[in-house]
Amino acid sequence: MKRIAIIGAGLAGLTLARRLESKAQITLFEKSRGVSGRLATRRLGEFEFDHGAQYFTARSSAFQKFIAPFISEGLVQEWRPKVLTLAEGEKPDRRDWFEPHYVAVPRMSGLCKVLAGNLDIRLDAPITALGKNADNQWQLHSAETNIPEVFDWVISTAPVTQSIALLGEHLDSSILDHDVDIKNVQMSPCFSLMLGFEETIDLPFQAAKVKNSAIDWIMVNSSKPGRPDKPTLVIQSNNAWAQTHVDKESQWVGNAMLEALDKLSLNPLPTPLVQSVQRWRYARVEQALEQDALLDRKNQLGACGDWCLSGRVEGAFLSAIGLAQQLELSL
Ligand SMILES: Cc1cc2nc3c(=O)[nH]c(=O)nc-3n(C[C@H](O)[C@H](O)[C@H](O)COP(=O)(O)OP(=O)(O)OC[C@H]3O[C@@H](n4cnc5c(N)ncnc54)[C@H](O)[C@@H]3O)c2cc1C
Repeated sequence: MKRIAIIGAGLAGLTLARRLESKAQITLFEKSRGVSGRLATRRLGEFEFDHGAQYFTARSSAFQKFIAPFISEGLVQEWRPKVLTLAEGEKPDRRDWFEPHYVAVPRMSGLCKVLAGNLDIRLDAPITALGKNADNQWQLHSAETNIPEVFDWVISTAPVTQSIALLGEHLDSSILDHDVDIKNVQMSPCFSLMLGFEETIDLPFQAAKVKNSAIDWIMVNSSKPGRPDKPTLVIQSNNAWAQTHVDKESQWVGNAMLEALDKLSLNPLPTPLVQSVQRWRYARVEQALEQDALLDRKNQLGACGDWCLSGRVEGAFLSAIGLAQQLELSL
């Protein structure tokens, strides 16, 4: 069996691993302490926050088919919040969602945890470089951990900048110069402000899109199915605002986002018991590659992830499926 190293254990990496596990020997390397990437949940004391993806939609039949068994088991459920559009000095507007919006239950990271199952996943293993040995096999290097195994193929599912930093110098030049213009792919940062309350909160919505503000969305995280009762909010920044302030200290960011919240003239919130800011440097895809994945058969390298198709959970899944189909022909 061919040996494949997959860098990253978010939805794309895990989907790819599951698709290929009967045809190849797979090892995943994940830089974080746990799987799931941006389909993430953070625990802070007794509170939990989905501080990455808030929900996902399923527009393709492939993704609908993939989530169907999880829906049957209750691991994925539809979230039907009351949604408003808010803007400073304007009357709130009702905002309808015209397709199902799903969440993993009881937390977003739950979906990837199930997918991870008994796969060979090395956590706390940030890959910093690749190289070939004398037998033309790939070796992976990490400052944190020794990786004695060698691989026939290496696939990166890290965000585009990190994938190109790892694979770029080894890729066939036609992949970088000719087939697709990777330089056009753009990802933007986002801040997630997490607030957890002891007392009830009085808001006229469970999800709100905010216009002309540092804030893009406000989610009452605790209103999603299967969450603990204690009120939690996840407030996400506007992408352009995050880009301008990406290197500011977390405390400054949190205060600025709370000031923006104040301007929306909502009922005052009680003092939060916990407050934290997550900085996502590569959060959302502004411009996707617009092809399923990258595959360099000559050098036995590849890359996939949401940045190939769309900056959404479904895009990450479809990109991985697309790459798996292409890769199967070489296994
Ligand atoms: C704040 C925010 C809000 C979002 N909201 C939504 C939403 O509402 N709906 C929606 O559909 N999508 C949303 N998204 C996007 C969605 O989360 C992503 O599209 C999807 O999770 C991407 O999956 P992926 O597997 O392609 O990448 P990731 O989940 O980023 O997985 C890549 C993995 O690679 C790991 N990695 C990176 N570099 C290395 C390295 N050198 N070595 C080892 N491991 C490495 C990372 O730690 C990560 O686990 C949101 C994202 C963010 C951040």
